[in-house]
Amino acid sequence: MSAEPLTARRAGLIGCHDCELLVRTDAAGEGHHGRCPRCGAALHARKPNSIARAWAFLLAAAVMYVPANVLPMTVTTALGAAQSDTIMSGVIYFIHSGSWEIAAVIFIASIFVPMAKLAILVFLLVSVQLRCRWRPRDRTVLYRMTELVGRWSMVDVYVVTILVALVKLGAVANIEAGPAAVFFAVVVVLTMLAAESFDPRIIWDVIEEDS
Ligand SMILES: [Zn+2]
Repeated sequence: MSAEPLTARRAGLIGCHDCELLVRTDAAGEGHHGRCPRCGAALHARKPNSIARAWAFLLAAAVMYVPANVLPMTVTTALGAAQSDTIMSGVIYFIHSGSWEIAAVIFIASIFVPMAKLAILVFLLVSVQLRCRWRPRDRTVLYRMTELVGRWSMVDVYVVTILVALVKLGAVANIEAGPAAVFFAVVVVLTMLAAESFDPRIIWDVIEEDS
């Protein structure tokens, strides 16, 4: 990092969030809130209130994660007996019945990935708020991972749907999605919004201010 890279902010430019046009900022500088001359979108040097918004979405996601795991994800009726399963009891059921692949998919998609996403975003937010200079490049990679994974977060909802379809086709048992499915979908959406609100450029701002 010997040569200082020229940034848009230093050059007095703002990138439009929507059409990516570089717009010259006038004397108003950093706090300038103009409109993009090409597409009309509001211009911001950084996403506004990104830390506060990301925290709000994250906390809401963490709260919703509790009913998503405590309430039943599936309600199975076989031979007149109803049995409801949470995500974790479903995983344990599949391990016991020898289908460890299905158990692994459910565990990774519904427990490991959402927890990892929440943990990474909390870590990024705390590190930015503490004005941490530790490995900005690696932290940016972490952020990209949460964005990438977000697109696949609905996999779990599909897993439940496919299981429901399979069991219904088998006609041995009747399986329905429980209330946890709704909370789980809410967690997925809130985590995506949190990742979307976070502006990864603020990771680098501290380092730039130093030099
Ligand atoms: Zn624009």
